[in-house]
Amino acid sequence: MGAIKDVVDLLTQLVSRIQDRKVAAELNTIQSLIVNIQAEHAELHETNIKLSEERLSLRERNQVLEAQVAELSSASSARPSDIPTCPNCSTKAKPFYMRPVPRDFVSIQNATHECPKCEYLS
Ligand SMILES: [Zn+2]
Repeated sequence: MGAIKDVVDLLTQLVSRIQDRKVAAELNTIQSLIVNIQAEHAELHETNIKLSEERLSLRERNQVLEAQVAELSSASSARPSDIPTCPNCSTKAKPFYMRPVPRDFVSIQNATHECPKCEYLS
């Protein structure tokens, strides 16, 4: 902001000293353009402050959400060991959990759990 103000002041001095009306008029035009630039600059400065604040609050929100994701993923990876895993679809790195068979089908299928991928019953 300081540099723009200096230019405006300098132009004001020049305009007062110049005798040639045409040159003075051109300098006046330049001066008013610079005043516009000054206004735009002030607006950008305001926007910048708002964006900085917004960024800060988004960063805080992101931290909260990341903490929640970490909490949820640790809760979901600590699945109870009584849920059976499919021997066909599980790997050493990733267990493939079976889903419970609907209660009405437990006696028909003679199984409590079913693999959603290969339909293995257990
Ligand atoms: Zn399976």
